[in-house]
Amino acid sequence: MEKQDGKDGLSRRTFLGKSSAMLAAAAGMPMMAAAQQAVDKSGDNHKGVNEQQPGPKNAPLEAAEPSSVYPPESDSGGQPPFKYPFSFAHKRIEAGGWTRQVTVRDLPISKKMAGVEMRLIAGGIRELHWHVGAEWAFMTAGSARITAVDQKGRGFVEDIHEGDLWIFPGGIPHSIQGLGPDGCQFLLVFDDGNFNEFETFLLTDWLHHTPKDVLAKNFGTSEETFKNVPKRELFIFPRDLPRTLAEEQKEAYAGSGPIPNSFAFFTGKMHPTKVSAGGSVKIVDQSNFPATNIAAAIVTLKPGGLRELHWHPNEDEWQYYVKGSGRMTVFSAGGHARTMDFHEGDVGYIERSLPHYIENTGDTDMVFLEVFPTPHYEDISLGEWLAHTPSRLVDQHIGTGEDFLHKIGKKEAVVVPE
Ligand code: MN
Ligand code: MN
Repeated sequence: MEKQDGKDGLSRRTFLGKSSAMLAAAAGMPMMAAAQQAVDKSGDNHKGVNEQQPGPKNAPLEAAEPSSVYPPESDSGGQPPFKYPFSFAHKRIEAGGWTRQVTVRDLPISKKMAGVEMRLIAGGIRELHWHVGAEWAFMTAGSARITAVDQKGRGFVEDIHEGDLWIFPGGIPHSIQGLGPDGCQFLLVFDDGNFNEFETFLLTDWLHHTPKDVLAKNFGTSEETFKNVPKRELFIFPRDLPRTLAEEQKEAYAGSGPIPNSFAFFTGKMHPTKVSAGGSVKIVDQSNFPATNIAAAIVTLKPGGLRELHWHPNEDEWQYYVKGSGRMTVFSAGGHARTMDFHEGDVGYIERSLPHYIENTGDTDMVFLEVFPTPHYEDISLGEWLAHTPSRLVDQHIGTGEDFLHKIGKKEAVVVPE
């Protein structure tokens, strides 16, 4: 038998697994029991005959998604998908950069938020525009000049660098331009799942669709002034770099001054909200960023680190994976649990009050964003819940013994190990 194994290139376990299944079938044992035997013999290597996939297989995708191909045994039931990779999204490429989006039309559970990735070359301009919903942004590479004007005509001009973020409240007109040496790439998140980056209110589009004589009357000038207004939108287009920040701020703030609460937040200058052995978290919401109506957590997990078991009682969570890879299980009432793997550029979505964890399964630091369509960040951790409930009562449910319960930290860990 040993010789036969070697000749076929089959592992002994596979051969034994197959033979025990066949023996069981021959003995009239139910096939379920035979398959189970094969699994038991193969351990965690997924070599059981019942786990083999002799038919079609998308090998690169399956290798990247082990939690879907071989789910943990605790998974159960039909949880709707809560992940969509930006890599699946159509990319609109223009001379000044590119953009792509993940909305409720791609990921049906993401009803309250949508996301956009955008690249602008040095000098590349995302045209002056606005939209109904608010825009929260995170710079993932390079630098950009951003501008906006508020309801009182006050200006805002700022330079944003990697790791920094901004908020443009709904209806506030704004622009983004890539700076040197190599422009930028950033993420935008909107508090509307049905948002569409390709259908925003654009300066050129609006002027083109307004009679020239009305434009002339509006500004007390001649129609000739508007002869160069483009006949179609510019959207993302290459131009010269802006003037210096000081010059452009001075120009924009003349007469009315700057907006009172900056739309920019310099995350790099902020101390982490919590640091532990497993990683760290920065929470940015209206308490430290007064202009925002969108709350966020920037989480870093070291290899093996875990964003502890928790849920958010106040809003849905929209996630973006910036670096590294990990897995997340989402549990929902009725015994449904589903685990999915996440990689750079993936979007995740968790509906309000559904508990979850995120684990770094890679060998490098993992960074991801939790974004919420609400001004204030809120969560409830399993640890805090159990630590502040009478220990006899908890022990009567889960039988861990009260010693274990007394040792749980009285304050949430956020990231473990502490
Ligand atoms: Mn915008
Ligand atoms: Mn969360």
